[in-house]
Amino acid sequence: MWRAEESKEAYEELKKKLMEGLRENEKIESILKALKLFNSRKDRIFKEVDDLEELREKIRRAKEEVIENLDEYIEKAVKKMEENLCKVYLAKDAEEARRIVRGIVGDAKLVVKSKSNACREIGIVDYLESQGIKVVETDLADRVVQLLGEEECHPVVPAIHISKEKWSEAFSKETGRDVPPDAQAITDASREGVRRAIMSAEVGITGANAIVAETGTIITVENEGNISLVSRVPPKHIVIAGINKIVPTLEDGLNIAEATTLFGTGQRFGAYVSFITGPSRTVDVGLETTIGLHGAQEVHVVLIDNGRRDAIRDGMKEMLYCLNCGSCLASCPIYMSIGEKYSCGYFGGIGLSFGAYIFGAQRAFVDGLGFCTDCGACSEKCPAKISSNDLVREIRRRAWERFGLLLPPHKKIRDAILETGNPFGEPPEKRGEWMKSN
Ligand code: SF4
Repeated sequence: MWRAEESKEAYEELKKKLMEGLRENEKIESILKALKLFNSRKDRIFKEVDDLEELREKIRRAKEEVIENLDEYIEKAVKKMEENLCKVYLAKDAEEARRIVRGIVGDAKLVVKSKSNACREIGIVDYLESQGIKVVETDLADRVVQLLGEEECHPVVPAIHISKEKWSEAFSKETGRDVPPDAQAITDASREGVRRAIMSAEVGITGANAIVAETGTIITVENEGNISLVSRVPPKHIVIAGINKIVPTLEDGLNIAEATTLFGTGQRFGAYVSFITGPSRTVDVGLETTIGLHGAQEVHVVLIDNGRRDAIRDGMKEMLYCLNCGSCLASCPIYMSIGEKYSCGYFGGIGLSFGAYIFGAQRAFVDGLGFCTDCGACSEKCPAKISSNDLVREIRRRAWERFGLLLPPHKKIRDAILETGNPFGEPPEKRGEWMKSN
């Protein structure tokens, strides 16, 4: 149980964070501009999809099926991936996952990485760098965030808050020549360093949008083409993904690939969708299987639990249906007011729910569990029909019950109701006093 003073300290931190977020006008304006663009694209594209509701239903059912029978699906997926010559590891928490990845990386000195929420969740970049291994982000936005030492502000477009001038500064410094603040010039300049790193890296790390149990196929969705290169060019490919990324069939995986871009950025389909079913191989020479032609020679898959089973045991399984598409953020009044400050590892209400199980209720409390207004707008455009606000409300209730976590103003109101029957703390005989004075 937390002591009252700790709650007070957390409250002060929370107020500070809120005020900082509210003061960052420029950043919030950029975020709102991007969300507006995604929302208008979605309004248009949703009309073109005949079976949108059916797609949402199918995704929800596939996720429910796996989470209801998790052990069975993990076993099936692992077996299939091993048959496909992948090496599979199960990590109970972030520390174990980092240790496993470190072991696979071995003596490598350069690792390239694509955008991955699971990688951020286990803090793999900082960890590998602390071990003297250079990690180069290959997603354009992640790369500028890395070069500038900035914070990411959105799961799909993490650098929407960074001005073109700052992008130009970052890549002028990296390339050693003047890169104008022009989108195409910046994109072209960014390619050089990233491409060089990909061609010489010994290890590539990616996440996964889905892992198909029936075939052991890892599915990734992208626009830039960097994930395809990171997963194919370096000799070792490491996939880091939550156990909730498993889906029963290839069709389910394809549905998730479709919904991720439809709901995330309002695109009909990602520019590239990869289906990776083991390392590169051939039987061309005398029908003998030989490994490693143009793709990775080794594919390692690290499946992380990290609080997910605890969430299921706690009746919070709905949060594991999340695709991390970011669609809910585009209608969340808190995210639209303070941006990335409303996060606990993952962004928004769903992020706070995840955070409560990954990092613990205390961290989620300090990170803004109390911010959610319970408006429910988040569930309306969620491809998996998740009611994040219901999850947050329940986690808040339990945080109070189990750890005594309650913001001081809320505690004051609660105590007043219990003591006097009203939130203002007025004794019953005094309740009408204000009328007499008028
Ligand atoms: S809760 Fe739904 S809308 Fe929000 S990121 Fe997850 S899948 Fe997307």
